[in-house]
Amino acid sequence: MKNTIQYFPSLLLALILTACSTEKTWDVIIVGGGLMGSSTAWHLSATGLSVLLVEQQDSIYTYGSSMGDARIARSNNRGDDIWSYLHNRSVQETEELIAYLHEQGHPDGDYKMEDLYTTSPVTYVGRAAIYPGLYASLERQKVNYKLASNLQEAMDLFGVSLKDSVLLVREYNKYSGTLNPQKLIKHLQLGAHHKGVDIRYHTKVTELTAVGNDGYRVKVQHTNTGKTQLLKARKVVSAAGPYTGKLLQGINSNIAQLINPQRVFLAYLKIKPDNYHNLSPMQKDQLLAGYPVINSSEGGRMGSFFSMIEYFDEEGVPIIKVGGHFQRSDIQDLDKVWEEELSEEEIAFGYNNTLKYLGLNNVLIDSTDLQYIHGYSCVYSLTKTEVPYVSYIPNKEGENREDLVALCGLSGVGAKGAMTYGLMAAKLVQQLPEKQDSMLAQIMERMGYGRLVNDIEALKEERSMGHLSQ
Ligand SMILES: Cc1cc2nc3c(=O)[nH]c(=O)nc-3n(C[C@H](O)[C@H](O)[C@H](O)COP(=O)(O)OP(=O)(O)OC[C@H]3O[C@@H](n4cnc5c(N)ncnc54)[C@H](O)[C@@H]3O)c2cc1C
Repeated sequence: MKNTIQYFPSLLLALILTACSTEKTWDVIIVGGGLMGSSTAWHLSATGLSVLLVEQQDSIYTYGSSMGDARIARSNNRGDDIWSYLHNRSVQETEELIAYLHEQGHPDGDYKMEDLYTTSPVTYVGRAAIYPGLYASLERQKVNYKLASNLQEAMDLFGVSLKDSVLLVREYNKYSGTLNPQKLIKHLQLGAHHKGVDIRYHTKVTELTAVGNDGYRVKVQHTNTGKTQLLKARKVVSAAGPYTGKLLQGINSNIAQLINPQRVFLAYLKIKPDNYHNLSPMQKDQLLAGYPVINSSEGGRMGSFFSMIEYFDEEGVPIIKVGGHFQRSDIQDLDKVWEEELSEEEIAFGYNNTLKYLGLNNVLIDSTDLQYIHGYSCVYSLTKTEVPYVSYIPNKEGENREDLVALCGLSGVGAKGAMTYGLMAAKLVQQLPEKQDSMLAQIMERMGYGRLVNDIEALKEERSMGHLSQ
């Protein structure tokens, strides 16, 4: 008894200090407020769970894989029906988000799908040899399309001078065109916040530690003040984009080797204002109809590029953004890569492909009429197969506690399916197997735990054979 009384003050002090330095235990903490984290937060917001979303940036998103005003969103995919489903389901889920926000009321206007999606026929230019597979996928995926497989058809249908052995298909589905990731993030966070999700900006997770079988300790640091705090969560969702490997290092170091962050550049160009305004109305229409585009007609991955109109400048001139999903390079410093200037070759890649594509569309301009405005170095993470993971993460011992979910390796396909990936992650958090929708169940399987574990085993095997560093 004497001992208890003697030690009581220090025990009390310890309890008070603990209470001050920690707070309530959240049901779920989501790390990262890009497209994936924001989408997961929205889908979890209706579950009754207490959810906290932490984001290291300000509420205005300024870097990350989701940076920019436009991403191509389209239903057709020649290779695999899952990408078609992911886009279509995302459109459907976005309609629900918009309907919810509409009910809440807008301070100065209304919420509309058109704020997020710009419906604009998506052009795909490819080698004629892909015709059978492409045609079959367009029919199977119920795409509204027009397809030209030779010069005459291309001139008649689109006014485009197609080269030999090249075809062109245009997709006309509603909400196929471009998606604005910045605005989608804002809308998702607003919807989630309305439904009770707490959001903290300038809050960087510096350490993630499993606590026995009882959830996670999440150490955070305020990026302005440097002040640190310990948070507790029963479950954690990692949606840290290219930073995923670093975030999960202490939980399972294999993850960093499974998702490889790569730099991808974007060049922004425009036709000089006088020259643009001198184009005939038909030529302007022709230019606008040609974007967004994915062009793989050169054959081989290195020759392919994607391009879209990012926005119109104050003189009404379209700003054309161009990049290549296979123009990837390794990263020295993830925190600094975003500021890296484009090399001369990279600028030339954007410039030459744009000039050639405008020529194909019979928008004939002089090479000196096209102006490079600026470039941007962006990053995305790639899995070996370029198919993302939306999965539970096993701990160091290889156990699956089903309390840590990661969305990672979203590469160049994440935006158009963002609403669906978040839905999948929310289902995993709630340990709800998908029973109703067989396609969604199939996708969850393909991106889920079984594959992740196999990939980890393959990594270990490679390491044991000396092909990889420890
Ligand atoms: C150049 C380029 C072109 C693309 N084109 C297309 C396209 O045309 N169509 C398409 O569908 N997709 C496209 N994508 C893919 C799509 O944009 C990405 O897959 C998607 O944006 C990934 O979102 P994310 O939430 O995973 O990552 P991010 O947007 O990077 O979000 C991660 C967030 O986590 C935060 N964070 C990281 N670590 C921490 C931490 N420790 N603590 C707190 N916060 C943290 C980051 O600040 C960031 O906000 C493209 C991607 C790129 C880069």
